[in-house]
Amino acid sequence: MKMLVRRREVAALFTIACMISVAVLALFSGSCGRKGAKLSPEEICYMNQRSIDGAIKAYKEEKGEYPKSLEDLKKVPYLAGTMGSCPEGGKYIWIPGDPPQVKCSKHGIPK
Ligand SMILES: [Zn+2]
Repeated sequence: MKMLVRRREVAALFTIACMISVAVLALFSGSCGRKGAKLSPEEICYMNQRSIDGAIKAYKEEKGEYPKSLEDLKKVPYLAGTMGSCPEGGKYIWIPGDPPQVKCSKHGIPK
């Protein structure tokens, strides 16, 4: 009799554990999904600009000088040939400087 009760308890615990892991999974995928949907075109554009910024710094570190133009930057593999573009059709404008910057013609510079 005792064994039977214990087995039931184990089964109950197991069910609870399953429910918790399902809930956790749902929470995770839910929050990830929401995060993905929350990105506005503006934010995606800024993310692209930040990766270009990173490539500009990598260029400087390797070559000892900043690239002179976006074309210069496209010749090296830091962006892996996948330089993002503005999701709303803006153009990335090169702003020479120290360091140089890019600016979206539609969204400007990341805030
Ligand atoms: Zn943009």
